[in-house]
Amino acid sequence: MLAYTYLEQGRFALLDKPKPTPLHDRDAIVRVTLASICTSDLHIKHGSVPRAVPGVTVGHEMVGIVEQVGPAVTTVQPGDRVAVNVETFCGTCFFCRHGWVNNCTDPNGGWALGCRIDGGQAEYVRVPYADQGLSRIPDRVSDLQALLVGDVLATGYWAADIAGITPGDTVLILGAGPTGICTLQCVRLKAPKQIIVCDADPVRLDFVRRHYPEVIPALPEQLLETVQSHSGHGGADAVLEVAGTPETFRMAWECARPNAVVTVVALYDAPQVLPLPQMYGKNLTFKTGGVDGCRCAEILELIAAGRLDTTALITHTYPLSDIEAAYDLFEHRRDAVMKVAITM
Ligand SMILES: [Zn+2]
Ligand SMILES: [Zn+2]
Repeated sequence: MLAYTYLEQGRFALLDKPKPTPLHDRDAIVRVTLASICTSDLHIKHGSVPRAVPGVTVGHEMVGIVEQVGPAVTTVQPGDRVAVNVETFCGTCFFCRHGWVNNCTDPNGGWALGCRIDGGQAEYVRVPYADQGLSRIPDRVSDLQALLVGDVLATGYWAADIAGITPGDTVLILGAGPTGICTLQCVRLKAPKQIIVCDADPVRLDFVRRHYPEVIPALPEQLLETVQSHSGHGGADAVLEVAGTPETFRMAWECARPNAVVTVVALYDAPQVLPLPQMYGKNLTFKTGGVDGCRCAEILELIAAGRLDTTALITHTYPLSDIEAAYDLFEHRRDAVMKVAITM
């Protein structure tokens, strides 16, 4: 089968590999129908994910059809259409029992697929702990609608949930890339009074304007003023930082009102500075990232009910045989690309 593979720093290639088989009783084999490319894949390519294993098939956002299950798998069976979870988790350890599945103590717990074990930019993928790692897609939901459920949409859902948003709040989201937009969709479910989205990229702000007319788009240079003029207490009641630069980290706490919650979803390339003397008296609560992606069934129900819809984010589609071109487009952000779907 064809599998897009991390060879070494800076190099991916489409290789012919053997089709995976179950290795454990709780494994499933999924025939991938649709996969997508994530910014984290680019981080692997450029060597900024040290735990990524050379030779691994990349890709951690995909949907498909269950082909084979191990004898201990109970929630899915061959023929089921499923969304694959980015995270591998056992479901029974201390962290899993609390819903903190990102910290599952299994050796492959957390983000393993497409990083430490073979992922889904391939015709088939082996999914460990299939009862936890697969969610059946309701009949009313298409593969395209379900494609982002296991990773970026799960991240937005988790972030909106821990951000402490209440009705009447002004919520600031920093970053209008795919994860920022997924976060925006999930924040809307909390019915805050006002949402402000900031991005330095005019193409991305334009996407916000076209799809979410009720949201206030802001460039970084106007942000503080915009937030202050739309909030009753000198800053945003909740801030979600989804961009991951030193500037956005600073804006996150600067634009927050005293006693706000700042939820840091972004993954940074370098440590960030907390200037505590300047922040003194703001009494902020910081929540730091790492999606607990264990609520995919709820997300799929919200899609089925028409309350979440990420299909507009998928701006381009390429066949697996042409995945090099898809990466090139995605990496260089050409043609107003947001997300690329790969068909098998
Ligand atoms: Zn990802
Ligand atoms: Zn666990």
